[in-house]
Amino acid sequence: MIVIEKYNDSLHNPYWKFQLGPEAYEIKDTPMRVEAIKKVLREDKRFKFVTAREFPERYIAKIHPYHDYIKKTAASMKEGEEFYPDLFPGEGAHLPKVVDSPLWGGIWCTDAVTPITQKTYDVARASAETALTGAEMLRDHKQNRVYALCRPSGHHAGPRVFGGYCYFNNAATAAEYLLPSGTVAIVDLDFHHGNGTQEFFQEVKSVFTASIHCDPSIEYPYFWGYADEKGKGQAVGTNHNEPLPKKTELHEYLKAVGRIVEKIRAYQPAFLIIAAGFDTHEDDPIGGFNLHTHDYFEIGKAFSLLNIPTLICQEGGYNTATVGECVKNFLLAFEK
Ligand SMILES: [Zn+2]
Repeated sequence: MIVIEKYNDSLHNPYWKFQLGPEAYEIKDTPMRVEAIKKVLREDKRFKFVTAREFPERYIAKIHPYHDYIKKTAASMKEGEEFYPDLFPGEGAHLPKVVDSPLWGGIWCTDAVTPITQKTYDVARASAETALTGAEMLRDHKQNRVYALCRPSGHHAGPRVFGGYCYFNNAATAAEYLLPSGTVAIVDLDFHHGNGTQEFFQEVKSVFTASIHCDPSIEYPYFWGYADEKGKGQAVGTNHNEPLPKKTELHEYLKAVGRIVEKIRAYQPAFLIIAAGFDTHEDDPIGGFNLHTHDYFEIGKAFSLLNIPTLICQEGGYNTATVGECVKNFLLAFEK
């Protein structure tokens, strides 16, 4: 299987996040995650590494209204500085016509865990280009199954706001790229609901979105991910959420997978994108389903058997001792 990597992920290493009370916490999304995944995949000859190519900025800018904000803010940062939006105006605020200061970031951002550093724009863009490179391979029939080793993740970044460690939505960018060539289904398997991805396509009939995640009444992102969110307007019926309790075991997890597989089969998309998070692992420091390292093969198999050209985009997964093996097991299910 082709593994698409990029060159500058290690430049993205913000340190603090402000969440859940007065303390600042270390950000768990470190470059070590990618190194851990690469180390395991490099040891197996079935994986072939390809460097992501550059794409014109417009592929990312056209769907992310905060593209220029992130780019300009990053360019205004000194080395080592981290900027955290901390003023969130909410609905009904008098918004200025020109937004040209980092201080306005609360218009575009949901939280204070997604800081902007000098390199944030470069690495977030390269992460989206990693997904775009994979999408291009599928579109041009060069590959049938591709893994994009994206970091930062993308699934919490939406059409209005970014947040949750995510700046640009990699899976959504790839889906937009593929849409002129056919319909798309996106399945999000991260422990946290893919709220950004859902919002991108909730009124778009030509993209089916589904997510299996921890019940948002007790887990981030709290305000999205409930079972009654089924799409809007002409697209009602093209979104499917499977909120599950903490500590869910494989048996119950696979039932949710089965329900989604059936829906995808009925939808018959031309392309499948899997936003693959591995913070569902039993030992993940942020997540907390009871999935074991070897379970990911069986989960991957259920989607592989659909036999649809598939792009797998990396999302979360924060235990650097286990994430590499989890990714490998998942990807091997897609080997022919
Ligand atoms: Zn997650």
